[in-house]
Amino acid sequence: MPVNALSVDVEDWFQVGAFENTISRADWDGLDCRVEGNTDRVIDLFARGGVKATFFTLGWVAHRYPALIRRIAEAGHEVASHGWDHKRVFTLSPEDFRDDLAASRVALEDASGTAVTGYRAPSFSIDTRTPWAHAILAEEGYSYSSSVAPIRHDHYGWHDAPRGAFRPVAGEPLIELPITIARVLGREVTAGGGFFRMLPSRVTTDAVKRANAGDTAAIFYFHPWEVDPAQPRVRNAPLKSRIRHYSRLGAMEGKLERLIAGHAWGRVDAVAAREAARLA
Ligand SMILES: [Zn+2]
Repeated sequence: MPVNALSVDVEDWFQVGAFENTISRADWDGLDCRVEGNTDRVIDLFARGGVKATFFTLGWVAHRYPALIRRIAEAGHEVASHGWDHKRVFTLSPEDFRDDLAASRVALEDASGTAVTGYRAPSFSIDTRTPWAHAILAEEGYSYSSSVAPIRHDHYGWHDAPRGAFRPVAGEPLIELPITIARVLGREVTAGGGFFRMLPSRVTTDAVKRANAGDTAAIFYFHPWEVDPAQPRVRNAPLKSRIRHYSRLGAMEGKLERLIAGHAWGRVDAVAAREAARLA
């Protein structure tokens, strides 16, 4: 049975795509930063479950909380990149994408003392609009990316991308690990984040079992702010964004504990290495 990929996208409650048009980056420094405490809760959760995982972390977070990044690495988890400040890749020029990657990597490597070889685009924003993005990741020496959501969704999606691991750049070792897709009531959603939080756990566990039955690892993700019911509420955000962001926060930690106990989980770099060997 393959070991599945457990991943956390480390960003604070005010940095999410859902509030992008409500909260300006210029105001971030004045807000109630909760990412450090919430990420420590996630580290404790994983220690209780006896699992290692990958923390795709913003350079912005590493710059402010280097000791947190060190704790992630010292607990045996993988520190990987989620870009600098959550700008979606399709909003950047190729040159700005390269600069964003470099700044994030320096901050993460300095803080963790480990090499960063994995990347997840903010809001799965590598799609048909960014045909240059994987080539830049390959040139910069990343061994894998987990940046593609092969579905239709109002905020993201590259719906006809492969559903399993693939080599996105001919002749390069870079592996793309698309996020696993779950099915509910005839709809397809990503296995993780708000969908995992709001829908019955069975939707996700069925997706994990389906992947594993095909000898494939599931790729699952969530965010530290999702285990924080006490986070400040953004009252002027669109209703849809508020429903997605605040629903069932109090249930999340228990659901995660049961999901972790129910399947085999590990770091994304280990899954990428296994998939690379299979594709070779
Ligand atoms: Zn993110």
